[in-house]
Amino acid sequence: MSIPKHPDVIDEAVEFLREHYRARGKDIRSAHAHAAVAHYLGYNSKVALKSDPHFDATDVDLLSYRNTGIEKLVECIPLMKPTPLQEIDPSSLGNVIYAGLAPACECCNEKSLRITPLGYEEREPDGWICRDCAARHDEDYATCRFCGDDYIYRASKINHRGECAEHNGESVYDEEEREDMDSLAEYFQNH
Ligand SMILES: [Zn+2]
Ligand SMILES: [Zn+2]
Repeated sequence: MSIPKHPDVIDEAVEFLREHYRARGKDIRSAHAHAAVAHYLGYNSKVALKSDPHFDATDVDLLSYRNTGIEKLVECIPLMKPTPLQEIDPSSLGNVIYAGLAPACECCNEKSLRITPLGYEEREPDGWICRDCAARHDEDYATCRFCGDDYIYRASKINHRGECAEHNGESVYDEEEREDMDSLAEYFQNH
């Protein structure tokens, strides 16, 4: 029996990027797409990425701990042979590469530009969901009133006060604090 192997996320991101722009009338050569993905991950070339022994291209959660960014896209794309990549805003290109590197949404099974990991910046997120599915299934997904709307949790991880585990009790504490303040104010009024 062979162990099922995770797909190579770099290849998936390259495929997603080319597909995304092909649908918009831009034909990106495979070599350029590979280079762009490597640049987004901070490497000077695809070869540099491939030869890094610490880079695990089968880790579907690699976005949660790798440094990513558009600096090298900005630096390197203008130096490429003419390619439609040069017409694309680097930050939107970065978003497309991020979506390509991220796993498919656990709900609709599609890679999405609106994908986000579950939880608060976990090393190994509990799952990945697109914001459209999260909004559509608000019985399954929720946000913490303290973490804000950027972080999506499984609804089961959020308590009845709308708090994540990290912020559990925070709003109660606020109320107690307010009561203390009120009684203090009362004390000063009466003395
Ligand atoms: Zn989805
Ligand atoms: Zn929180």
